[in-house]
Amino acid sequence: VGHIGSCLSIADIVSVLFDDVLNIPEPDNPERDRFILSKGHAALAIYAALHLKGLLDAEQLNTFHEDNSLLSVHPEHQLDGIDFSTGSLGQGLSIGVGAALAARIQRSQRRVFVLLSDAELNEGATWEAVMFAGHHKLQNLTAIVDLNGQQALDYTDQVIDINPVEEKWRMFGWDATTVDGHDVAELRTSLLSSGENSVQPRAVIARTTFGKGVSYMENKIKWHYWPMSDEEYAQALVELGY
Ligand SMILES: [Mg+2]
Repeated sequence: VGHIGSCLSIADIVSVLFDDVLNIPEPDNPERDRFILSKGHAALAIYAALHLKGLLDAEQLNTFHEDNSLLSVHPEHQLDGIDFSTGSLGQGLSIGVGAALAARIQRSQRRVFVLLSDAELNEGATWEAVMFAGHHKLQNLTAIVDLNGQQALDYTDQVIDINPVEEKWRMFGWDATTVDGHDVAELRTSLLSSGENSVQPRAVIARTTFGKGVSYMENKIKWHYWPMSDEEYAQALVELGY
């Protein structure tokens, strides 16, 4: 379990966010940046990042998907380092808009980052949040779109074609840019400049490969849900260099 293909799609983005971008001195510091994984089904990638940042120990990590564990397939806010419970798709950006507006009202310097899937651009609530953030010029808000071109049951251009993506965000008043979602240097440059000298919310459209790095998973719809066999797991580790 754990939506492994979706996790590999965002692994490089999550790595740059947690290593270089997010200001998270400790989970209960009110001035820390907020991060919302709107595509909550990829929470496993966040647990790995929290572990590598020293916010989640190995013993707790090993309880993933067990009864009574806080490490569900979808993230739970009771877990340190998780700001909001997500998993109902299309809601994360609205939560981020509220958090960004709250920071402005409280005159806080904290920033808000929301990572959403390209399929969530099929949801009306996402566009309400896009319009609201553009209208209120929430320059402390950054949305990152995991543009992997597929969703649970088909490729996005076969379900509801969302192109041209960057232009749509720009039309609603966002500072939008498109990057290679697996180019760590490009991601770092783009995300580190979020909020700098800007009077607009920021959209980083990250072109990604679903199942990145594992040959039999890349761009395959079935790996949205499919669990690995022991043999497939062993092959994945070899291909990823472990
Ligand atoms: Mg997708």
